[in-house]
Amino acid sequence: MTSRIHYTKPSITDKEIEYATDAATNGWGEQCYAYIERFESAFRKHLGVKHAIATSSCTGALHMGLAALGVEAGDEVILADTNWIASAAPITYLGATPVFVDILSDSWCLDPQRVVEAITPRTKAIVAVHLYGNLCAMEQLLAIGEQHGIPVVEDAAEAIGSSYQGKAAGSMGKFGAFSFHGTKTMTTGEGGMFVTNDDALYDRVLALSNHGRTRSQTKQFWPDLIGFKYKMSNVQAAIGCAQVERVAELTREKRRVFHTYQELLADLPLDMNPEPQGTRNGFWMPTIVAYRGTDFDREALLHAFRADQIDGRVFFWPLSGLAMFESRPENVVSYETCLRAVNLPSYHDLSVSDIERVAAHVRAHLKG
Ligand SMILES: *Cc1c(COP(=O)(O)O)cnc(C)c1O
Repeated sequence: MTSRIHYTKPSITDKEIEYATDAATNGWGEQCYAYIERFESAFRKHLGVKHAIATSSCTGALHMGLAALGVEAGDEVILADTNWIASAAPITYLGATPVFVDILSDSWCLDPQRVVEAITPRTKAIVAVHLYGNLCAMEQLLAIGEQHGIPVVEDAAEAIGSSYQGKAAGSMGKFGAFSFHGTKTMTTGEGGMFVTNDDALYDRVLALSNHGRTRSQTKQFWPDLIGFKYKMSNVQAAIGCAQVERVAELTREKRRVFHTYQELLADLPLDMNPEPQGTRNGFWMPTIVAYRGTDFDREALLHAFRADQIDGRVFFWPLSGLAMFESRPENVVSYETCLRAVNLPSYHDLSVSDIERVAAHVRAHLKG
């Protein structure tokens, strides 16, 4: 009997169990924030940033960060069309409009030239999402932001372990947002992190994250503005503390899985996640994109996966194709790439024989 190959699952050891048990047993009263503070501090050090605020999700971190930048009704925020809805939804929560632009065919991330073309007087921010761990062209994007006076922010939910010219993904923009959802490289079940090097922005998000109570306010139960409630619990943070202590190992295993696939599929007519000079890819999600013009039936491969108890996933659809957004068929790379692409299973302790089992199906469906 063959065993099921899950798409992702967390790596949980005795350390996570020990910390979570301690938090559940002792993390109350005076200790009720102890693991949260420890997690924020460890994450800050890991990333090399000044400030970190643990949140209940990446969606919440993005919502607060964009609100703190002053994004409001009538504003526009530029991001790649190829994305998960979580990167765009917070823009709409603020009444602003997501402006979807096309991706580069090699990184599957924002095309800087398209970003420039999409800038209008209403553009309030550019959201650089490091898709599947691949790095956005940060140098160009930051230069564009600088030139136009528009903040570039990073959605690094998929990019733990990725870096650009030695700088961690999420540490380069005006702020960064992370997800610790159960499918991500590092997990707390549900959870996220807001990070920034900007003192004033940190103060604003800290107040927003605390129902609008500013740090200097001494009066009890006295919010100075309407804020949010996107906090992480101490028990979740305890799991996060264990995960961040193990982050090098978690990333190393994701990279091992990717490289094993890469070797096994090297001779096939397909591209995988790139790792250009000067970058390091955390390889959250090993993805294959069949060469254009190759005889590749994606549905047939996904069907074969299902029949053999393997979880494969489709590439992100262009968000502009969804009913609630304005269609942008001119984003041809986004619309065309997704049809040739599949995400492969990649949890940390995926065995070589299971990787071989997945790769054999890919080979059978992509003979070239
Ligand atoms: C997972 C993910 C999110 C959402 O994270 P949550 O913690 O579930 O809110 C946002 N952006 C990207 C790119 C993601 O992959």
